[in-house]
Amino acid sequence: MVGRTIVSTSVLHPRAARNQAGGGAEIEANLTGLKVGATNRRGKFLWLELDDVAEQAPSGLGLLVHLGMSGQMLVKSPDTSPNPHLRARAELDDGNEVWFVDQRTFGYWWLGELVDGVPGRVAHIARDLLDDALDIPALAAVLKTKNTEIKRLLLNQEIVSGIGNIYADEMLWEAGIHPRQKASRISLTRLVALLEAGREVMIRALDQGGTSFDALYVNVNGASGYFSLSLNAYGQAGKPCARCGNPITRETFMNRGSHFCNRCQKVR
Ligand SMILES: [Zn+2]
Repeated sequence: MVGRTIVSTSVLHPRAARNQAGGGAEIEANLTGLKVGATNRRGKFLWLELDDVAEQAPSGLGLLVHLGMSGQMLVKSPDTSPNPHLRARAELDDGNEVWFVDQRTFGYWWLGELVDGVPGRVAHIARDLLDDALDIPALAAVLKTKNTEIKRLLLNQEIVSGIGNIYADEMLWEAGIHPRQKASRISLTRLVALLEAGREVMIRALDQGGTSFDALYVNVNGASGYFSLSLNAYGQAGKPCARCGNPITRETFMNRGSHFCNRCQKVR
Protein backbone atom coordinates (compact mmCIF):
# COMPACT_ATOMS: atom_id res chain seq x y z
CA MET A 1 0.00 0.00 0.00
CA VAL A 2 2.88 2.38 0.74
CA GLY A 3 3.42 4.77 -2.16
CA ARG A 4 -0.02 4.11 -3.63
CA THR A 5 -2.63 6.84 -4.06
CA ILE A 6 -6.22 6.25 -3.01
CA VAL A 7 -8.40 6.91 -6.06
CA SER A 8 -11.81 6.23 -4.52
CA THR A 9 -13.22 5.48 -1.09
CA SER A 10 -16.55 3.95 -0.04
CA VAL A 11 -17.77 3.61 3.52
CA LEU A 12 -20.51 1.00 3.30
CA HIS A 13 -21.68 0.72 6.91
CA PRO A 14 -22.32 3.64 9.30
CA ARG A 15 -20.71 1.84 12.26
CA ALA A 16 -17.37 1.77 10.43
CA ALA A 17 -17.36 5.60 10.61
CA ARG A 18 -19.14 6.03 13.93
CA ASN A 19 -16.24 7.97 15.52
CA GLN A 20 -15.95 10.38 12.59
CA ALA A 21 -17.75 13.68 13.26
CA GLY A 22 -18.86 13.91 9.62
CA GLY A 23 -19.52 10.18 9.26
CA GLY A 24 -18.60 8.04 6.27
CA ALA A 25 -19.10 10.93 3.82
CA GLU A 26 -16.28 12.86 5.51
CA ILE A 27 -13.89 9.91 5.18
CA GLU A 28 -14.87 9.38 1.55
CA ALA A 29 -14.37 13.06 0.67
CA ASN A 30 -11.08 13.58 2.50
CA LEU A 31 -9.28 10.27 1.99
CA THR A 32 -9.72 10.11 -1.76
CA GLY A 33 -6.72 11.53 -3.63
CA LEU A 34 -4.22 11.04 -0.80
CA LYS A 35 -1.07 8.91 -0.99
CA VAL A 36 -0.17 6.33 1.63
CA GLY A 37 3.20 7.38 3.07
CA ALA A 38 3.69 4.72 5.74
CA THR A 39 1.91 2.16 7.88
CA ASN A 40 2.13 2.24 11.66
CA ARG A 41 0.82 0.43 14.70
CA ARG A 42 0.57 0.84 18.46
CA GLY A 43 -0.99 -2.06 20.28
CA LYS A 44 -4.39 -2.69 18.74
CA PHE A 45 -4.40 0.59 16.79
CA LEU A 46 -2.97 0.75 13.32
CA TRP A 47 -2.88 3.70 10.97
CA LEU A 48 -1.91 4.76 7.50
CA GLU A 49 0.16 7.92 7.40
CA LEU A 50 -1.00 10.03 4.46
CA ASP A 51 1.28 12.17 2.31
CA ASP A 52 0.73 15.58 0.68
CA VAL A 53 -1.89 16.79 3.13
CA ALA A 54 -0.14 19.93 4.43
CA GLU A 55 -3.04 22.27 3.67
CA GLN A 56 -5.69 20.12 5.30
CA ALA A 57 -3.62 19.20 8.34
CA PRO A 58 -0.24 20.84 8.89
CA SER A 59 0.86 18.23 11.43
CA GLY A 60 -0.12 15.36 9.12
CA LEU A 61 -3.16 13.19 8.56
CA GLY A 62 -3.70 9.54 9.34
CA LEU A 63 -6.35 6.92 8.69
CA LEU A 64 -6.70 5.13 12.02
CA VAL A 65 -8.04 1.59 11.90
CA HIS A 66 -9.25 -0.32 14.93
CA LEU A 67 -10.08 -3.93 14.17
CA GLY A 68 -12.42 -4.34 17.14
CA MET A 69 -13.37 -7.98 17.71
CA SER A 70 -13.40 -9.23 14.15
CA GLY A 71 -12.08 -6.56 11.77
CA GLN A 72 -9.72 -7.41 8.93
CA MET A 73 -7.69 -5.13 6.65
CA LEU A 74 -7.24 -7.03 3.41
CA VAL A 75 -5.60 -6.16 0.10
CA LYS A 76 -7.70 -7.59 -2.71
CA SER A 77 -7.54 -7.64 -6.47
CA PRO A 78 -10.67 -6.11 -8.02
CA ASP A 79 -11.97 -9.42 -9.36
CA THR A 80 -12.37 -10.89 -5.84
CA SER A 81 -15.88 -12.12 -5.12
CA PRO A 82 -17.95 -9.86 -2.83
CA ASN A 83 -17.84 -10.22 0.95
CA PRO A 84 -21.11 -9.70 2.88
CA HIS A 85 -19.16 -8.15 5.79
CA LEU A 86 -17.32 -5.54 3.71
CA ARG A 87 -17.72 -2.25 5.67
CA ALA A 88 -15.35 0.11 3.84
CA ARG A 89 -13.18 0.01 0.75
CA ALA A 90 -10.40 2.13 -0.71
CA GLU A 91 -9.36 1.67 -4.32
CA LEU A 92 -5.63 2.16 -5.03
CA ASP A 93 -3.99 3.53 -8.18
CA ASP A 94 -2.46 0.11 -8.94
CA GLY A 95 -5.93 -1.40 -9.31
CA ASN A 96 -5.92 -3.22 -5.98
CA GLU A 97 -8.44 -2.49 -3.24
CA VAL A 98 -8.06 -2.21 0.51
CA TRP A 99 -11.01 -3.89 2.20
CA PHE A 100 -12.16 -3.37 5.74
CA VAL A 101 -14.16 -6.51 6.48
CA ASP A 102 -15.78 -6.63 9.91
CA GLN A 103 -18.40 -9.21 10.74
CA ARG A 104 -19.27 -7.93 14.23
CA THR A 105 -18.85 -4.19 13.42
CA PHE A 106 -16.89 -3.30 16.58
CA GLY A 107 -14.06 -1.97 14.41
CA TYR A 108 -13.88 1.42 12.75
CA TRP A 109 -11.97 3.83 10.52
CA TRP A 110 -11.18 7.35 11.71
CA LEU A 111 -9.49 9.95 9.55
CA GLY A 112 -7.85 12.65 11.61
CA GLU A 113 -4.84 14.79 12.35
CA LEU A 114 -1.60 13.37 13.64
CA VAL A 115 -0.09 14.79 16.83
CA ASP A 116 3.65 14.04 17.04
CA GLY A 117 3.11 11.48 14.29
CA VAL A 118 0.31 9.67 16.13
CA PRO A 119 -3.48 9.99 15.53
CA GLY A 120 -5.08 12.03 18.33
CA ARG A 121 -7.23 9.09 19.43
CA VAL A 122 -4.08 7.04 20.13
CA ALA A 123 -2.07 9.64 22.08
CA HIS A 124 -2.71 7.87 25.43
CA ILE A 125 -1.31 4.54 24.18
CA ALA A 126 2.38 3.98 24.97
CA ARG A 127 4.87 2.91 22.32
CA ASP A 128 4.56 -0.67 21.10
CA LEU A 129 7.10 -3.24 22.25
CA LEU A 130 8.01 -3.71 18.57
CA ASP A 131 8.40 0.03 17.90
CA ASP A 132 12.00 0.69 16.83
CA ALA A 133 11.86 4.01 18.67
CA LEU A 134 11.03 2.32 22.00
CA ASP A 135 13.83 2.87 24.51
CA ILE A 136 14.03 -0.52 26.26
CA PRO A 137 16.42 0.50 29.09
CA ALA A 138 14.21 3.54 29.82
CA LEU A 139 11.10 1.35 29.90
CA ALA A 140 12.86 -1.13 32.20
CA ALA A 141 13.71 1.77 34.53
CA VAL A 142 10.02 2.80 34.62
CA LEU A 143 8.96 -0.77 35.43
CA LYS A 144 11.56 -0.90 38.20
CA THR A 145 9.82 2.02 39.99
CA LYS A 146 6.52 0.09 40.22
CA ASN A 147 5.60 -2.01 43.22
CA THR A 148 3.13 -3.89 41.02
CA GLU A 149 2.98 -7.44 39.65
CA ILE A 150 5.08 -7.49 36.48
CA LYS A 151 2.39 -9.11 34.31
CA ARG A 152 -0.13 -6.39 35.21
CA LEU A 153 2.40 -3.79 33.97
CA LEU A 154 3.13 -5.68 30.75
CA LEU A 155 -0.61 -5.65 29.96
CA ASN A 156 -1.02 -1.93 30.75
CA GLN A 157 -1.17 -0.22 27.34
CA GLU A 158 -0.32 3.14 28.90
CA ILE A 159 3.09 1.74 29.96
CA VAL A 160 3.89 -0.39 26.91
CA SER A 161 1.52 -1.50 24.18
CA GLY A 162 1.25 -4.53 21.96
CA ILE A 163 1.66 -7.22 24.63
CA GLY A 164 -1.43 -9.38 25.03
CA ASN A 165 -2.06 -12.18 27.50
CA ILE A 166 -0.41 -14.87 25.37
CA TYR A 167 2.84 -12.97 24.75
CA ALA A 168 3.03 -11.78 28.36
CA ASP A 169 3.01 -15.42 29.49
CA GLU A 170 5.53 -16.43 26.83
CA MET A 171 8.02 -13.64 27.58
CA LEU A 172 7.80 -14.21 31.33
CA TRP A 173 8.47 -17.91 30.76
CA GLU A 174 11.46 -17.09 28.49
CA ALA A 175 12.91 -14.74 31.11
CA GLY A 176 12.17 -17.09 34.03
CA ILE A 177 10.07 -14.50 35.90
CA HIS A 178 6.86 -15.28 37.81
CA PRO A 179 3.84 -13.28 36.50
CA ARG A 180 3.05 -12.05 40.04
CA GLN A 181 6.63 -10.99 40.86
CA LYS A 182 6.69 -7.31 41.90
CA ALA A 183 8.51 -5.31 39.22
CA SER A 184 10.42 -3.29 41.83
CA ARG A 185 12.04 -6.53 43.06
CA ILE A 186 13.37 -7.54 39.62
CA SER A 187 16.84 -6.29 38.68
CA LEU A 188 17.14 -3.80 35.82
CA THR A 189 19.22 -6.33 33.89
CA ARG A 190 16.46 -8.93 34.16
CA LEU A 191 13.78 -6.39 33.20
CA VAL A 192 15.75 -5.50 30.06
CA ALA A 193 16.17 -9.23 29.32
CA LEU A 194 12.41 -9.71 29.79
CA LEU A 195 11.55 -6.95 27.31
CA GLU A 196 14.10 -8.24 24.82
CA ALA A 197 12.67 -11.75 25.21
CA GLY A 198 9.23 -10.30 24.49
CA ARG A 199 10.47 -8.72 21.28
CA GLU A 200 12.07 -11.98 20.19
CA VAL A 201 8.95 -14.02 20.94
CA MET A 202 6.75 -11.60 19.03
CA ILE A 203 9.09 -11.38 16.04
CA ARG A 204 9.26 -15.20 15.91
CA ALA A 205 5.44 -15.32 16.10
CA LEU A 206 5.08 -12.77 13.31
CA ASP A 207 7.44 -14.80 11.11
CA GLN A 208 5.00 -17.66 11.50
CA GLY A 209 1.93 -15.51 10.88
CA GLY A 210 0.99 -14.75 14.48
CA THR A 211 -0.89 -16.70 17.11
CA SER A 212 -4.47 -17.24 16.15
CA PHE A 213 -7.11 -19.36 17.76
CA ASP A 214 -9.85 -17.68 15.77
CA ALA A 215 -10.36 -18.01 12.01
CA LEU A 216 -11.08 -14.26 11.85
CA TYR A 217 -7.49 -13.31 12.71
CA VAL A 218 -5.67 -13.24 9.40
CA ASN A 219 -2.92 -11.26 7.68
CA VAL A 220 -3.60 -8.92 4.73
CA ASN A 221 -3.59 -11.89 2.38
CA GLY A 222 -6.12 -13.80 4.46
CA ALA A 223 -3.72 -16.38 5.99
CA SER A 224 -4.03 -17.26 9.69
CA GLY A 225 -1.18 -17.84 12.14
CA TYR A 226 0.53 -21.01 13.23
CA PHE A 227 2.67 -19.79 16.13
CA SER A 228 0.36 -21.57 18.59
CA LEU A 229 2.31 -24.73 17.69
CA SER A 230 5.40 -23.30 19.42
CA LEU A 231 4.00 -21.87 22.65
CA ASN A 232 5.95 -22.77 25.80
CA ALA A 233 3.61 -21.51 28.52
CA TYR A 234 0.27 -20.21 27.27
CA GLY A 235 -2.31 -22.97 27.06
CA GLN A 236 0.23 -25.60 28.19
CA ALA A 237 -1.21 -26.32 31.66
CA GLY A 238 -0.20 -29.79 32.86
CA LYS A 239 2.30 -30.29 30.03
CA PRO A 240 6.02 -30.53 30.89
CA CYS A 241 8.01 -27.27 30.91
CA ALA A 242 10.30 -27.29 27.86
CA ARG A 243 13.18 -26.18 30.10
CA CYS A 244 12.89 -28.34 33.23
CA GLY A 245 10.09 -30.88 32.69
CA ASN A 246 7.98 -29.65 35.63
CA PRO A 247 4.27 -29.41 34.68
CA ILE A 248 3.10 -25.91 33.64
CA THR A 249 0.68 -24.30 36.10
CA ARG A 250 -2.37 -22.22 35.19
CA GLU A 251 -3.77 -19.69 37.61
CA THR A 252 -6.44 -17.02 37.26
CA PHE A 253 -5.04 -13.50 36.99
CA MET A 254 -6.87 -10.32 35.94
CA ASN A 255 -9.89 -12.47 34.96
CA ARG A 256 -7.75 -14.49 32.54
CA GLY A 257 -5.22 -17.27 32.78
CA SER A 258 -1.55 -17.03 33.69
CA HIS A 259 0.56 -19.96 32.57
CA PHE A 260 4.01 -20.50 34.06
CA CYS A 261 6.46 -23.06 35.41
CA ASN A 262 6.53 -22.85 39.19
CA ARG A 263 10.04 -24.32 39.22
CA CYS A 264 11.71 -21.94 36.68
CA GLN A 265 9.56 -18.92 37.60
CA LYS A 266 9.43 -18.28 41.34
CA VAL A 267 8.12 -15.28 43.28
CA ARG A 268 11.18 -13.92 45.11
ZN1 LIG B 1 10.47 -25.08 34.15
